[in-house]
Amino acid sequence: MPEVALTFDDGPHPLHTRAVLERLDKFGVPATFFVVGKNVRRHPEVVRETHLAGHSIGNHSFGHQFLSTVFGKIFEETQRTQELIEALVGPVPKVFRSPYGMSPPWLLDKLYGAGFAIAPTMQALRVGDCFPGISTDTVVRRVLEGVGKSSIIVLHEGLANGRGTRTASVRALDRIIPELRNRGYEFKTLNELMDSSGYRQLVYP
Ligand SMILES: [Zn+2]
Repeated sequence: MPEVALTFDDGPHPLHTRAVLERLDKFGVPATFFVVGKNVRRHPEVVRETHLAGHSIGNHSFGHQFLSTVFGKIFEETQRTQELIEALVGPVPKVFRSPYGMSPPWLLDKLYGAGFAIAPTMQALRVGDCFPGISTDTVVRRVLEGVGKSSIIVLHEGLANGRGTRTASVRALDRIIPELRNRGYEFKTLNELMDSSGYRQLVYP
């Protein structure tokens, strides 16, 4: 059976995260939310709601800053974000997705050492839904054309730097989820998909 993990980055956001949660609930599918620490601090109740609805919470750094990711204290910031998450919802599996998809070896070493799994990037389908002006049609088409037998779909419901809208990403779900279901896809959290597909072995040293 083909399988898919819906993932949402850069939240939480009080409007858009809740709009996504509403749709996931309507269709009865799980997802994984890669939250940014500074947004967790602003909207902790949204993280709690996400967890209580049965979805997974992943770690997407604290400040989502390019320079911090390359040269800075991203490891310390990631640990701080994990502490914020776990103070809200209790202990959860530690899964990290790097901002801008950059995970230099020194960072991976430290993260593995601290017990983090790394969200696979090779199998992730990115559709550019965070670029300004993208239409719902484009998001839907790119997802449905690009999805494979065991895919991680990367969408954005949060705002890493406070600007923009996520209407296309949210509305696309109304068409993506039913169509994937028609095609026989099983929806999983990222952790479940990594376990069942063997991706965990690929990303652990
Ligand atoms: Zn991001």
